[in-house]
Amino acid sequence: MTPVEQIKSRLDIVEVVGGYIKLQRAGINLKARCPFHNEKTPSFFVSPARQTWHCFGCSKGGDIFSFVQEIEGMEFPEALRILAQRAGVELVHESRERRDARSRLFEANELAVKFFETQLLKSPAGGRALAYLRDRGLRDETIHAFRLGWAPEAQDALLVFLRGRGFSDKALDEVGLATRARDGFRARFRGRIMFPIFDGSNRTVGFTGRIFGREEGEYDPKYLNTPETPIFEKHRILYGLSAARKEIRRRGVALLVEGQMDCLLAHQATSAHAVATSGTALSPQHLVVLKRLADTVIFSYDADVAGIEAAKRGIDLALEAGFIVRLAVVPKGKDPADLIRDDIAAWQELLEHGTQPIIGFLLEQALAAHGLASPEAKRAVVTAVFPAIARISNTIERAEWLEQVRLRLGMTQANAEAFWQEVVKHEVKSIEAPQVSSEQDRPLPKEILSRRELLEEHLVALTMLQEQLNDLGDETIVRSLRNRALYRVALTAVQPAEGASLAIPERVSRFQDAIAEEFKPYGERIVFMVEEMAESIRDLLEERNACLREIRTLDLRERLEAISTELEAAERSGDFARTRELTERFRESSANLAALFSETSRVTETVS
Ligand SMILES: [Zn+2]
Repeated sequence: MTPVEQIKSRLDIVEVVGGYIKLQRAGINLKARCPFHNEKTPSFFVSPARQTWHCFGCSKGGDIFSFVQEIEGMEFPEALRILAQRAGVELVHESRERRDARSRLFEANELAVKFFETQLLKSPAGGRALAYLRDRGLRDETIHAFRLGWAPEAQDALLVFLRGRGFSDKALDEVGLATRARDGFRARFRGRIMFPIFDGSNRTVGFTGRIFGREEGEYDPKYLNTPETPIFEKHRILYGLSAARKEIRRRGVALLVEGQMDCLLAHQATSAHAVATSGTALSPQHLVVLKRLADTVIFSYDADVAGIEAAKRGIDLALEAGFIVRLAVVPKGKDPADLIRDDIAAWQELLEHGTQPIIGFLLEQALAAHGLASPEAKRAVVTAVFPAIARISNTIERAEWLEQVRLRLGMTQANAEAFWQEVVKHEVKSIEAPQVSSEQDRPLPKEILSRRELLEEHLVALTMLQEQLNDLGDETIVRSLRNRALYRVALTAVQPAEGASLAIPERVSRFQDAIAEEFKPYGERIVFMVEEMAESIRDLLEERNACLREIRTLDLRERLEAISTELEAAERSGDFARTRELTERFRESSANLAALFSETSRVTETVS
């Protein structure tokens, strides 16, 4: 057994999911209001028999791993580690020595945090740093909760402390606490206010140290960060995320600020959805982490051009990753930390009512810079705004912004279209969507199913439930290729075996075994439907007939529409023979439609 299989065999999905949300019985399955989208009636189902979950509302689904990933906003390896621990399964892919070495690194960091915390509270220099933090507006409980500390000036104070606890200089170098000097090792962080950085399990993976008590110099930067280490991957870790995760999920919004102080003061000012990048630019990996938790990111930056310029790359990435991007622009020359300290009400008002959609902001800025007076000015405005619009991944949103800009600039459709083509040609090449999925984690693509596709899915599920089928093999009624493949499998799965009709669970397992790999997640969805319908629908045969009628009605309506378009064209061109032929076809289809309706009402009458 692989560790994943071992974990699955030891943990029950009902307990794992039930630890996060309240589940209620629904026949052989359990249901709940989905934790991943907003809804009033439950469409989130858990199957104890198959150890899977699926939401009919947002089409997410999977096993315990994907559930923990989704709800904790974690990558697969993190979810694996948490569940392995819970199941008492040793992860063998990581050798004992390596794991021990890694846990030694965490241990060193944890001891360092404690050392720095004590220095902040007990040493005279630490006292001055503490006074500074309070002066910047931090409350003691925030300082305590985020475990801020003080790294003393002395070259080897921390090293002496950690050597005394059995750590070699080499290990301290590896975790980034020590750095190699000409005559041995010395502490990397000296005379600095220390901000520990935590991972999803609240372990310290690194630090940011802010200079204090002296001027910064060429080799002595204002902010010093832990370098990449085996446990610190800058492009994945967001400062404040372990504290902000819950609130980001609750709001569906992540607030991105630049610095640690901004982040801490934001948390203190009831903006507990704030996170900061740790001494690095916002990366696609950061966004993958946030995307599991939120649909919207708010960038909070200084109003000046440099502030926006600095945020530009991150904003582009966020648009490409499908986020709704808004800006919270703080007054010029201030950072969020200043604004919060000086005028907390203004900060809260800004976040509550004052954030602007990024495209609107860019448009206003470009208009202010170039005006509208000449064709050249319009071109400049378009050049500033269209590339950002091109990065929006939602088609409807993109179209709406294009239209707004067009109207604002008083351009004709044709003109706007020509400009757009030009921009897209240049931009689209450079746009690359970040890799979101891993092998273990394959949510269904977010798609809006048409009514027809939904009906087809119902037909497949209802077919699985029939005692007897009279219309075997009639698969042409199902139009989507995916649903047709599933329908074909369903028709085979319900065939009696050795003359005996099969029970539902047997059919289900036949169905699941026969589905092609690429359709498995959709098959899972059908199985949940089958189980739901088995409980809730009394006349399964009539339900299936109604479903078939409904699909045929849609077909006929479409055909009628197509014929009437052709008919119009034939009439306009004076083609009498064609007109007559089409009129006849139209009459035929109308009659069919009418017949379908009378069938429906006859059934309705017998039922009532
Ligand atoms: Zn959902």
